[in-house]
Amino acid sequence: CGIIGMVGARDVVPFLLDGLKRMEYRGYDSAGIAVRREREGSFEFSRRRAKGKIAALQNVIADAPVKGQIGIGHIRWATHGEPTEENAHPHNAQQVSVVHNGIIENWQPLKQELLNKGYAFQSQTDTEIIAKLIQHKLDQGLDAFHAFQESIKRLDGAYAIAVMIDDAPDTIFAARAGSPLVVGRGDNEMYVGSDALALALVTDKVQYLEEGDYAIITQQDIAIYDQSDSPVSRAVVETGLSA
Ligand code: GLU
Repeated sequence: CGIIGMVGARDVVPFLLDGLKRMEYRGYDSAGIAVRREREGSFEFSRRRAKGKIAALQNVIADAPVKGQIGIGHIRWATHGEPTEENAHPHNAQQVSVVHNGIIENWQPLKQELLNKGYAFQSQTDTEIIAKLIQHKLDQGLDAFHAFQESIKRLDGAYAIAVMIDDAPDTIFAARAGSPLVVGRGDNEMYVGSDALALALVTDKVQYLEEGDYAIITQQDIAIYDQSDSPVSRAVVETGLSA
């Protein structure tokens, strides 16, 4: 229902929670975040999820604090699978974490294909197949960019996604196909969200992804590609929303 993400140099958790709250008006039944933190040269990944309100997620985080310089977050309005903590996003595979708005129409054949290949599933969602599909491409030897790029080409339906992949620890991959998604530009940090309002704490400079676009978001830059994999530039719009 609502997606948020940030790559920066400071802790992203306060921004993720603020962004989720700004999207509460959309309605939702659960919430979650995943962050990665660099520590003594290696990366530490953490996920926190809760059924119910963002306040419940904040309680989970208060009990088990997390920090990171890169992270993704989500409020979910369940379409496939009950509203439970297990079905709350982000959904993971070994090296992958995904948040998703919308519906993957061909999730059942994809899930069967991945089950046949030995991938196990922890949720009843359509979303989890995205994580496992990307993982499968990584397992076949593709790098993070190509694993993401090839995976989204297999998804049917209306969706927006944001993805973190271990092999690209300073990158968020995002794609829009039927559900809106914006990327935001800051000073030495970059953002993604379902709408410009979600980014209003930090920036009013946004680029609206067009249908079929995907974006590679790092601290210094956002590279956008269209559905035929050509690099494209999308207008930077001043929303006037940021304080
Ligand atoms: N279809 C996904 C699910 O049920 C995403 C729903 C949403 O847009 O929040 O988990």
